[in-house]
Amino acid sequence: MKKPKVLHNFYKSPAWLAARELKIMAVNGLCERCGQIGIEVHHKESLTTENVNDSFVSLNQDNLELLCRECHNMEHKRFSKGVKFDSEGNLLNPEKHR
Ligand SMILES: [Zn+2]
Ligand SMILES: [Zn+2]
Repeated sequence: MKKPKVLHNFYKSPAWLAARELKIMAVNGLCERCGQIGIEVHHKESLTTENVNDSFVSLNQDNLELLCRECHNMEHKRFSKGVKFDSEGNLLNPEKHR
């Protein structure tokens, strides 16, 4: 699934990068759920093309959560359909569409 362009642009904006940095600093770079190194900043209220320009949603520290990849995947239930793991639990062939 491709992100709508407006969301794609948002994730490259200096305002977002600053808000993201701030969040990471605020929680010492650790996943807020499991305490591993957090690498992805999640929007509790998901971003849509409608609210992406509403800084109360898109840039609000209270709406952000630092997560590790596992917790983030879990949050978005990315592992639901047609996804396979190898014996070590690594994701195999993550959606490759032409
Ligand atoms: Zn985690
Ligand atoms: Zn997320």
